[in-house]
Amino acid sequence: MNKHPFESRLKKSFTISLDEIHKIIVNFHDEMQRGLEGKESSLKMLPAFVDTPGGDEEGRFIALDFGGTNFRVLQVALDGHGSARIERTKKYVIPKAVMHGTGTQLFNFIAQSIRNFSFIDRSESAKKKDLGFTFSFPMKQTNIANGILINWTKGFSATGVIGKNVVTLLRDSLKRSGMSRINVVALANDTVGTMAARSYKDPLCDVGVIFGTGTNACYREAIANITKLPRAARSRKNMVINIEWGNFNRLPFIPYDELLDRATNNPGKQRMEKMISGMYLGEIVRLILTDLIREKHIFARSKGKFAKGDFKTYHMSLIEADNSKNLSDIKEYLDGVGMLKTSLEERRLLKKICALVSQRAARISAAAISAVVTRMDPNLSSNHTVAVDGTLYEKYPRFRRTIMSALKEIHGRRSARIKVVRAKDGSGLGVAIVAAAAAAQH
Ligand code: ADP
Ligand code: MG
Repeated sequence: MNKHPFESRLKKSFTISLDEIHKIIVNFHDEMQRGLEGKESSLKMLPAFVDTPGGDEEGRFIALDFGGTNFRVLQVALDGHGSARIERTKKYVIPKAVMHGTGTQLFNFIAQSIRNFSFIDRSESAKKKDLGFTFSFPMKQTNIANGILINWTKGFSATGVIGKNVVTLLRDSLKRSGMSRINVVALANDTVGTMAARSYKDPLCDVGVIFGTGTNACYREAIANITKLPRAARSRKNMVINIEWGNFNRLPFIPYDELLDRATNNPGKQRMEKMISGMYLGEIVRLILTDLIREKHIFARSKGKFAKGDFKTYHMSLIEADNSKNLSDIKEYLDGVGMLKTSLEERRLLKKICALVSQRAARISAAAISAVVTRMDPNLSSNHTVAVDGTLYEKYPRFRRTIMSALKEIHGRRSARIKVVRAKDGSGLGVAIVAAAAAAQH
């Protein structure tokens, strides 16, 4: 098959070589170290004021999972022997008006959802209920039950929240809604919850990763290395660090990355997230398509157009999953959006473009995972479990496989020491474990 020059150009610009991966890892280590020392760094390296759980945490908790596309309320039961069970859960789509309104509206929405969920536990209905709050944005914490929002990510822009303690805002909204019997005992990032959910039953788990609307990770660090902490706070042996890796910026950017970044409401920020996560991958493909359509390299016989935000990561997933001879699912999708009379050749090209964008995302993800694990264990001399949650990781065809093969490229046979597992619903489940550990200390 005769390739057009633009095809090889695209391929070249989206390919991340092994050399580039190694460079990313070196730079990532450097930024991690600087972040821990409190120097200027694209990695905030936020102390989470919690260690991995012991496995004996028990009780029944309310968990909130807020920080992306959906808001979830869960009732979680912990048996004290490594088994965490979701007894009930409900999902609420976060309205655009809530993402972009006032902080009061946002926390009222959360309180109203909790009221709607109505925690059921008849035997102890009069008693206080302990709640764990997953709030997946960069926060400065000084203990497990507080956190000041540093900045919004993932398109959020609610006013009056940055610089405030989100636990106070949550408590106030619960009080306003007549639910003061609910006790907010723990605040955690979704990565921290995901890692806790796995380490509850797996002591080898020391990394938590999210590939969803956004992307981020946490890991277990020796307290002695967190030199930016005041000496008085350095009491435990290990502490979880929320890396906020979505903001990592020492990466081989290409013009499409700059184009995408400039059109967001947080230009210059979350540059790695913008190359990897569900909120952005579809938009990168759309930018490429817009160029190719303008240059009449694709869909020249169709009148259709893709407007900003029309092409979702979900569509890429669907396109890459189409293995039919005629690429009929792709055709159905394109027909559905008015992109009629496409040729098989054009559909193949579309699928290839999606693969270039998603594989780049997965390879950068692998580099970041490798960097985090080798920060703890440079020679991979022991086993590590990396717990992952998020719909992109769960649903995107070959995303996991591409990460695994990149890890193999980087580490050879030693890559077997890095076990990557799915911690489904970990971000909600895990915060219940964090809450149990916090409640036990009272
Ligand atoms: P959150 O990160 O908001 O907690 P999820 O982990 O569920 O939520 O991730 C939601 C993101 O997953 C959406 O922004 C969307 O981009 C992406 N997504 C949804 N469906 C699919 C799919 N089938 N394949 C790949 N990505 C998807
Ligand atoms: Mg999530």
